[in-house]
Amino acid sequence: MNELLKDKTPMQARHIRPGQGQAVELKTGQLLQIQTVKGKQVADFVAFTLGDTGEYLSTSATRATNATIVPQLGMTLYSNRRQPLFEIVEDTVGRHDMLFACCDPVRYEMLGAEPGHASCRAALTDALTDYEIGFDRIPSPINWFMNVGIQQRGELEIREPLADAGDYVVLRALKDVIAAVSACPQDMGPTNAFNPTALMIRVFRDAPLPDPPVISNGVPPPTRTGTASPATPPGRLHDTPEATVVRVE
Ligand SMILES: [Zn+2]
Repeated sequence: MNELLKDKTPMQARHIRPGQGQAVELKTGQLLQIQTVKGKQVADFVAFTLGDTGEYLSTSATRATNATIVPQLGMTLYSNRRQPLFEIVEDTVGRHDMLFACCDPVRYEMLGAEPGHASCRAALTDALTDYEIGFDRIPSPINWFMNVGIQQRGELEIREPLADAGDYVVLRALKDVIAAVSACPQDMGPTNAFNPTALMIRVFRDAPLPDPPVISNGVPPPTRTGTASPATPPGRLHDTPEATVVRVE
């Protein structure tokens, strides 16, 4: 367990089987961990602003604003209104994709699959049923752990993911959002090493639980000596129960 998630208990945890999707709501400052269970598994990821789903995570705005085609640690992910939606705060793999569309029924038909093959687009649509997003409004995803080789002339080559069992990314929400993740069921190519497997997603508060109240009989409690300031470390977002966020410089 890394420092960021150390001593934190997830508020929610969901297991996602291949071909299924899950949606979770995140308040500003909360953390979303997306983790492979057995490794070599792609997680298609889309997100919308909570209460205003006309705003959504945009791969094109994210590529353009960061001037790169590969998601990287520390990067801000932007909406179609070019507003910051997430920051990538942990990444144990370092290789992901934001070029490829979700797999969908037509793609599987093109590949000669039997009708009814599960797809990320259908899984995300199902996961977002409560928000009335609909199949045609599933945006272009970020594909965590998808390993795409980019050739000299721009040709794209899908390779097996570099993620091993337990590898993960952690995103910090910079706005109240709905996030949806599917475990890609692509079993006709190297996308998931020909063997789709499950994912786990977890939601964390981005602050340790407060210390219990100190009864001081009117005397201020002694300050701890030899320890660092209890203030939030630089750059960390402080998540209060009201989800008010203060950036501590
Ligand atoms: Zn897929």
